[in-house]
Amino acid sequence: MLLVKKSDELQTILNEKRKKGYSIGFVPTMGALHAGHTSLIASSGKENTLTIASIFVNPSQFNDPDDLKKYPLTIEMDIYNLEASFCDILFYPGTEEMYPAGFNKPLQYDLGFLETVLEGKYRPGHFQGVCQAMHRLLNIIKPDNLYLGQKDYQQCMVIKRLIELIGLNNKVSVKVCPTIREPDGLAMSSRNIRLGPEERKKATGIAQVLNHLKNYLKPGSTKEILNEAGKMLEKDDFRTDYIEIADRSTFEHVKNWDGKQKVIGLAAAYMNDVRLIDNLFLN
Ligand code: AMP
Repeated sequence: MLLVKKSDELQTILNEKRKKGYSIGFVPTMGALHAGHTSLIASSGKENTLTIASIFVNPSQFNDPDDLKKYPLTIEMDIYNLEASFCDILFYPGTEEMYPAGFNKPLQYDLGFLETVLEGKYRPGHFQGVCQAMHRLLNIIKPDNLYLGQKDYQQCMVIKRLIELIGLNNKVSVKVCPTIREPDGLAMSSRNIRLGPEERKKATGIAQVLNHLKNYLKPGSTKEILNEAGKMLEKDDFRTDYIEIADRSTFEHVKNWDGKQKVIGLAAAYMNDVRLIDNLFLN
């Protein structure tokens, strides 16, 4: 695997590959890689002649400075895992390489409703930061296929919107890959390593609650089942930001389910100071 830190060097390499007819699959990450990330690398490897992963802990998407300070950095293990997953290139830029003009006056992306609900509501500015980094990465790499995890479903929708806004929708195809889970159901996340043993046990509650929604959702009002779900999280000592049933494509809250509308359950909750998110298609 090649490790590249400079964008111009990366572009020279990719231009050469493109001339030879290579298709380029891209997996953006913030490192602290786990099997969720490497499943995206594997999907890209199956569908492209060249797979490139990036590791950049993007400061502009952290609305909570403490979360950024505590974000795990495991670059040596990450390189090992990428090699083992047959990743071809790791792009590992520094902040100056990503933001040569600094953070001042970033572009504002019109994300509409997506920015005002759920993650958008609870993490103000987060998705603007995601777009800032993704815009730069897409401009540098110009992938044919972009691999994202359903684990961050709202982020997938935001990035699809970004791709439209910057006019790349005919060039980059977005592949949303399934969430990889621990054997007990907890969605894999770089933040899981911050959970102590007791917290780790209780953290499975978030997946259990989403499964409860999936198993017991019936046509009609969703109020009661959402109340139950909220109480289940409370019982497991979660501090809940949201537990929601939403339309899978518009993200509108579903007050009354007709039994047919495609819906998704989404949750974000703190286990002490570790914020976990998860989601599940309910039908
Ligand atoms: P992150 O490093 O958290 O920014 O995530 C990088 C990519 O990996 C994003 O597209 C995530 O949605 C995806 N990802 C994170 N966790 C998982 C998981 N458990 N299963 C599948 N994809 C994941």
